[in-house]
Amino acid sequence: MKMLLDGKWVDRDYKIDVCDPYDNSVIETVPSADKNDVELALKSAVAGFEITKRMTVYDRAQVLYKTAQIISNRLEEFATIIARESSKTIKEARKEARRCVNTITCSAEESKRILGETIPFDSFPGGEKRKGFYYRFPIGVILAITPFNDPLNLVAHKLGPAFAAGNSVILKPATVTPLSAIKLVEAMIEAGMPPQAIQVITGQGARIGDPLVTDDRVRMISFTGGVEAGKHIASIAGIKKIGMELGSDSPVIVWKDADLQLAVESCVSGAFWAAGQNCIGVQRLLIHRDIYEEFRAEFVKLTKTYKIGDKMKEETNMGPMITETEAIRVEQWVKEAVAKGARVLTGGGRTGALMEPTVMENVPPEVKVHCEEVFGPTVNLYPVNDLNAAIKEANSLPYGLLAAIFTRNIEVAFKAAYELDCGGVMINDSTDYRLDSMPFGGVKYSGLGREGLKFSLQEMTEPKVVCFNLPGM
Ligand code: NAP
Repeated sequence: MKMLLDGKWVDRDYKIDVCDPYDNSVIETVPSADKNDVELALKSAVAGFEITKRMTVYDRAQVLYKTAQIISNRLEEFATIIARESSKTIKEARKEARRCVNTITCSAEESKRILGETIPFDSFPGGEKRKGFYYRFPIGVILAITPFNDPLNLVAHKLGPAFAAGNSVILKPATVTPLSAIKLVEAMIEAGMPPQAIQVITGQGARIGDPLVTDDRVRMISFTGGVEAGKHIASIAGIKKIGMELGSDSPVIVWKDADLQLAVESCVSGAFWAAGQNCIGVQRLLIHRDIYEEFRAEFVKLTKTYKIGDKMKEETNMGPMITETEAIRVEQWVKEAVAKGARVLTGGGRTGALMEPTVMENVPPEVKVHCEEVFGPTVNLYPVNDLNAAIKEANSLPYGLLAAIFTRNIEVAFKAAYELDCGGVMINDSTDYRLDSMPFGGVKYSGLGREGLKFSLQEMTEPKVVCFNLPGM
């Protein structure tokens, strides 16, 4: 596949192999961009913004509606690309493709609701005779940097609202999963998006990241990825807007009055979706001591039914990790925990990139599977005695994306909702529940700003005040 630069699909001699992590077969190649390509992308994006900012809301919305229709018509094709290049099973990939249709459709809808307000200038002496308002204008070139784990929908979360608002975009997809992103852009161009409005540049972030991030022609960086890359980008970006969707170590409290079956099913799915490579994947389960043993037995029983292996088979529940190196990392983290006293209740083994779904208890606080984002198929169970202690434990780490609680007690639910330090609290769902149009983002190291169409549109526009001094009035 090719990159899209300056309105043309271009190739380069130096290429990157895109492999299926299940069997390491090469699916496709993409060009490896260099500094000249970065310059071309920047120049073209500036020219593209001159086009997009003049398009009517109607025209922008029509392009997005048509894009959604194209993806919907070719859902299986999109799902297959996702499943081949990423860790997702074909069933998980179909769900992501359906969500992408919704993300793009909602972006079109939200483009019609970018509103301003009148301003009461006469509310302070000196403002007499003045009338005015503010409206929101697009901010310009947006650099979108995306991760591997949702290679289609997380790209849609940036392209949809950026374009709905009238911006142009330079997209740098994850090097291991660029194909779904390129297919999405192909659909947008087919739907009528001006080609210069979007640049897709493929290549290593470590190589082409800095010249893109530091360039003043970029007015906003919308980054989704890990904390380390996020910190680096924030440290060199200079004066421009930054949106950061980073990692977490999602805590879920299971209170003594919880619907146990619901909690077990939601949390098993939430822990092992996309082989645990999920920013809202369940990592820490804080279970009331009265139901701990029953919950543990049911949780382990259901986990043991998981079929891992070939992503393209309908019956597979969980695929490989994105690379064998990543699976080795997770295996080592499990071994570290075991060496310090953790007990593996099921899993812990690895074959190539396939890491078994792993459940542990008695995990000491100093080990990596407790205090860092694992981003793999492991989950820790902890017994807790009281709600304050559970909330304190949930809040104890430097992340805060989503948290969750299972309870039938309204007061317990409200207390958790208000005291858990994070961007969202799910009641009677695991942390792995997200509606694409809800405000989504974190506190602490989990991020800056919010995504979720309407909220992304706020971040990707700025208010401009217009004030008329009308002395004759
Ligand atoms: P990553 O290694 O941080 O990479 C994310 C993106 O950043 C990739 O496109 C990567 O390019 C690029 N990148 C890396 N170093 C860069 C640099 N110095 N300058 C510019 N770009 C750079 O993350 P990942 O492994 O793909 O994704 C996993 C992480 O994403 C996890 O921490 C997860 O929690 C987080 N995530 C967060 C959300 C959310 O909404 N909060 C959603 C999904 C994932 P290359 O691929 O070329 O290295």
